Amino acid sequence: MADQPILRVEGLRKSFGGLRAVDGVDLSVETGQIHAIIGPNGSGKTTLFNLITGHVAPDAGRVWFNGRDITRLSSHACCRRGIARSFQRTNIFPRMTVFENVQVSVLASQGKCLNMFGPAKNMVRDESMAILESVGLDTMVSLPSGALSHGDQKRLELAIALGNQPKLLLLDEPTSGMSPQETADTIKLVESVCRDQGLTLLFTEHDMNVVFSIAERVTVLHQGRVIASGTPQEVRADPEAQRVYLGEPV
Ligand code: ADP
Ligand code: MG
Repeated sequence: MADQPILRVEGLRKSFGGLRAVDGVDLSVETGQIHAIIGPNGSGKTTLFNLITGHVAPDAGRVWFNGRDITRLSSHACCRRGIARSFQRTNIFPRMTVFENVQVSVLASQGKCLNMFGPAKNMVRDESMAILESVGLDTMVSLPSGALSHGDQKRLELAIALGNQPKLLLLDEPTSGMSPQETADTIKLVESVCRDQGLTLLFTEHDMNVVFSIAERVTVLHQGRVIASGTPQEVRADPEAQRVYLGEPV
């Protein structure tokens, strides 16, 4: 079916001890759309991503990707099917070069691994370079990743995620810790990469300017539940979303 959502979540639940971190979430993400998940700290955004990508097993509920039930798949299996994600905290190999970080990810997506003692240097070179170019890191390929600025490390994370050759990209606070200028640049970059490659993007973000500048759909979480979902205009006008999160009409 052409118009089925790329991702569908139904009745997803996860408790940690007595705390209901994700408490019956339904969500539908349309193919090719940019969809934001917003909500106060602790509202369950990261846990929801962990459940979708197989990093945490749900207590109840289901997740479908392209119409297939992926609820109990491992994170690696989710990745192989075309779901890539970045983490709220940077997740790179700091002592490897920028190029190698992306190379490993491209190789992994092709079911290969890097043999450090073999003719590894040029494997998937073109694919890796194209990705680094798309995120503007092609002049920094030989630097150790740990030497990059925070903003460039975040770009590298995006490149690593793209190395998985995903259909659906999940970015958890892609601009956290960035200056306003880095934030604006990164968001422009993420948007253009997704548009150019026809990727579907699901992201969390605390900066409402960012959310309302690129998202086509917005879902608001509060205490593990969806309290509003719709177009940015609909969510902005929603009294419940205003009360618990947006504070005042924006
Ligand atoms: P958000 O990303 O919206 O800030 P999280 O999903 O990180 O929210 O957290 C939701 C709630 O679940 C928080 O109260 C958090 O403390 C709790 N939580 C998240 N992960 C764990 C865990 N592994 N163990 C215990 N509690 C957790
Ligand atoms: Mg979080």
